[in-house]
Amino acid sequence: MAPRSPAPRPRHIRELLNAGEPMFSFEFFPPRTPQSQERLWRAIREIEALGPSFVSVTYGAGGSTRGLTVETTERIATDTTLMPVAHMTLVDHSVAELRHLIGRFADAGVCNMLAVRGDPPGDPDGEWVSHPEGLTYTEELVRLLKDSGDFCVGVAAFPYKHPRSADVETDTDHFVRKCEAGADYAITQMFFDPEDYLRLRDRVAARGCEVPIIPEVFPVVRSSFIPRSEKLSGAPFPRALAEKFESFGDDAEAVRAFGIEHAQRMCERLLDEGAPGIHFITSNQSKATRQIFREVSGRRSPSGADARP
Ligand code: FAD
Repeated sequence: MAPRSPAPRPRHIRELLNAGEPMFSFEFFPPRTPQSQERLWRAIREIEALGPSFVSVTYGAGGSTRGLTVETTERIATDTTLMPVAHMTLVDHSVAELRHLIGRFADAGVCNMLAVRGDPPGDPDGEWVSHPEGLTYTEELVRLLKDSGDFCVGVAAFPYKHPRSADVETDTDHFVRKCEAGADYAITQMFFDPEDYLRLRDRVAARGCEVPIIPEVFPVVRSSFIPRSEKLSGAPFPRALAEKFESFGDDAEAVRAFGIEHAQRMCERLLDEGAPGIHFITSNQSKATRQIFREVSGRRSPSGADARP
């Protein structure tokens, strides 16, 4: 009897989501120097060994790292066993340039994308100005991708609302529009209180939108991150949590251990509440996220599922 050929690997994130198993994925950013390139690839190889659901590569805001985003994503597609997701933004791109980029990704076999608008280069809080021959909102990029081929397209979701939105209700309406434009999944902005994710999910569900929303988790392993957190996430860092980190003073090891423990507890709560998976921000260093991944996924594997007290 001829040996049975293995089942084809899923091509799209939506297939993984439909399978119903918790998904674990990791986000990298494009490297600027040969040393950071080396560090990135070490982290990618370490993550590859864990067999994650997918990995994503961010798209440089100011333009300087964009070529590197494309090269890194292409290399992940051709030189690893990983499913790559390419982030794309609208900043400074005409529709013709966006189509060219989409074609390059398609040529490299990249068919999973994360469509985001991007922030104005230079000052992220500055006025948003569309390229004269470009697009204004992400929902238009979602349509462009969907009209261009068999792409699985994700969009950003903001548990605390996008900083430019007047209020959470308006923000949710705009999010649902992106989904109606054809988004297959969403990934959230980082947050530090699981309730923020659950409230977002409830608001979206109340509008009849069923697009799966994957929570993004950033393990805080250095206190120096906390003052920058609001700028990066658009949400205030929870006061009680900040005080807990402050209580460790200069003890960097204790800060790191608590940050990892907090992120791990968040992942467990989110998965218990039915989140479809966890998307980890790695900062191109895989140690903390690998540790959390092992703990959280180990408890959820068939042999470890009942091991929880
Ligand atoms: P949009 O959905 O276009 O929304 C932008 C603003 O306009 C919001 O306030 C929204 O409510 C409002 N809006 C939307 N539609 C309408 C409408 N029809 N009418 C009126 N108002 C509307 N940035 C990068 O530069 N590179 C990256 O790789 C990157 N990756 C990211 C990954 C994730 C998971 C997340 C959460 C963010 C990422 N960002 C990235 C940041 C993102 O580009 C910014 O937060 C950007 O300001 C918002 O992008 P968006 O896709 O949500 O925009």
